[in-house]
Amino acid sequence: MVKIMSIDELEEQVEKLLDERDKLEETCDTLPQCQEDDGCDTCKIYNKIAEIDDKIEALEDKIESLMGDEEEE
Ligand SMILES: [Zn+2]
Repeated sequence: MVKIMSIDELEEQVEKLLDERDKLEETCDTLPQCQEDDGCDTCKIYNKIAEIDDKIEALEDKIESLMGDEEEE
């Protein structure tokens, strides 16, 4: 059931996630709790940013392995 995506599609997804991440980071910066040291430890937005980071990392791994396949041919 997993749709195989092309490198272009994967890169597009990374772009979207980076956009989302930027917006979250902006919001995080404006929260009073995040002005304090370690304030982001309990910040929900920061958790979301970490989730997005994980997704981006997974996508980049996929892109890399797809690129590796292409080079081998
Ligand atoms: Zn925060």
